[in-house]
Amino acid sequence: MLGPPGAGKGTHGRLLAAALGVPHISSSELLRQHGGHRARMAAGDLIDDDVMVELVLDRLAQDDAQAGFVLDGFPRTVAQAAALDRWLAERGQRLDVAVLLEVPREVLAERLAARAVAERRADDDVIAHRLQVYEQESAPLVEYYAPLLRRVDADGSVTTVAERVLAAVLSAA
Ligand code: ATP
Ligand code: MG
Repeated sequence: MLGPPGAGKGTHGRLLAAALGVPHISSSELLRQHGGHRARMAAGDLIDDDVMVELVLDRLAQDDAQAGFVLDGFPRTVAQAAALDRWLAERGQRLDVAVLLEVPREVLAERLAARAVAERRADDDVIAHRLQVYEQESAPLVEYYAPLLRRVDADGSVTTVAERVLAAVLSAA
């Protein structure tokens, strides 16, 4: 699942995984289980590639992920994507599809502001920083995954967008 913060990667990653009967693997959940890195996460700064890659690949190696998985929040940099590709290739596996959740900038800003209030977790500066980090570090993944990319209009109700995501994935796989 690709897309800026607030696009709905968590929500739709979870729904897609349930629909496909595969695990939903969320990088932020893995980080929270692992503990540590709290300050950088709260600030919206990325955790180092080698740490993230090890955490996610350990999870992907588990039994329940052998028949497929939905990745959410990882990869977040081209270096992470390249490490993932190498690792999958060594196992004769590959990604089937990269779903890009697209949301107009104003809608994104509204969603992030609402969530900041609801979760009392991020002020405006942190939100702006997270968006900037996305543009700088993660937006290049759209190019990287061009051959696998399915763009989904993620401005709509959860049900509507979930149907679009599933249709996009089924048409690609
Ligand atoms: P959202 O609801 O926006 O998906 P979330 O709670 O799932 O929020 P993320 O934005 O996915 O959180 O991740 C929270 C933080 O964890 C990031 O700001 C970053 O510090 C760290 N993080 C998560 N995934 C990665 C990754 N692949 N590489 C580097 N850092 C990461
Ligand atoms: Mg998330």
